[in-house]
Amino acid sequence: MLFDTHVHLNDEQFNEDLQEVIERAKEAGVSHMVVVGFNRPTIERAIDLVEEYDFLYASIGWHPVDAIDMTDEDLAWIEEMAAHPKVVALGEMGLDYHWDKSPHDVQKEVFRRQIGLAKKLKLPIIIHNRDATEDVVQILREENAEEVGGIMHCFSGSAETAKECVEMNFHISLGGPVTFKNAKKPKKVAMEVPLDRLLIETDCPYLAPHPFRGKRNEPAYVKLVAEQVAELKDISFEEVAKVTTENAKKLFGIR
Ligand SMILES: [Zn+2]
Ligand SMILES: [Zn+2]
Repeated sequence: MLFDTHVHLNDEQFNEDLQEVIERAKEAGVSHMVVVGFNRPTIERAIDLVEEYDFLYASIGWHPVDAIDMTDEDLAWIEEMAAHPKVVALGEMGLDYHWDKSPHDVQKEVFRRQIGLAKKLKLPIIIHNRDATEDVVQILREENAEEVGGIMHCFSGSAETAKECVEMNFHISLGGPVTFKNAKKPKKVAMEVPLDRLLIETDCPYLAPHPFRGKRNEPAYVKLVAEQVAELKDISFEEVAKVTTENAKKLFGIR
């Protein structure tokens, strides 16, 4: 059993062949997935999907790239939608300094408000971070995000930062990049973070693992991530699959 903790099956890239993508995931041993919505249309589609498939769960939030567009009404709407029994987390939220659509101070404010909402609703959070590690860690600390914990998704930082996040009650989730030959940092993170704090994900349709790099990613490929983690930790694939699935179920409160 594998738990893909971060999928965008709500992306239009899956409109044509969603059923086949889901069947391939099942054949690869994927038993659970969390569909992440990060604006109005993707949240609505995520909710539709989790109502249709029993093995899908949702996480809903507002993406930092679009922080500039988030209104008070949007945040109130996210709070309403979070009451859905299959919404297991808030996010993805965080900071993204790669794209400059939303000014950093706006991103920070939208990030802080969502952490506040998560604390109110007692839901774990899924963190998106691109080129903003220092500020992300600082905000998590200042807002006492430790209270709810959550996931550093597709973690690309150093092993030291991973350790800091683990100490703040966060799990480290590894995706496709850990399989890239030149990806020294994620490989080191896989080796050093204890298995009981690790999760696996695809972030599909993005970031396909080796040998599919550059192609559309899909949940079946999370198996390649688990195999890479097993190799790096020098333990069995079964052990990685079992423990990361248990970690995710516990974090999301799934029985
Ligand atoms: Zn992300
Ligand atoms: Zn994502």
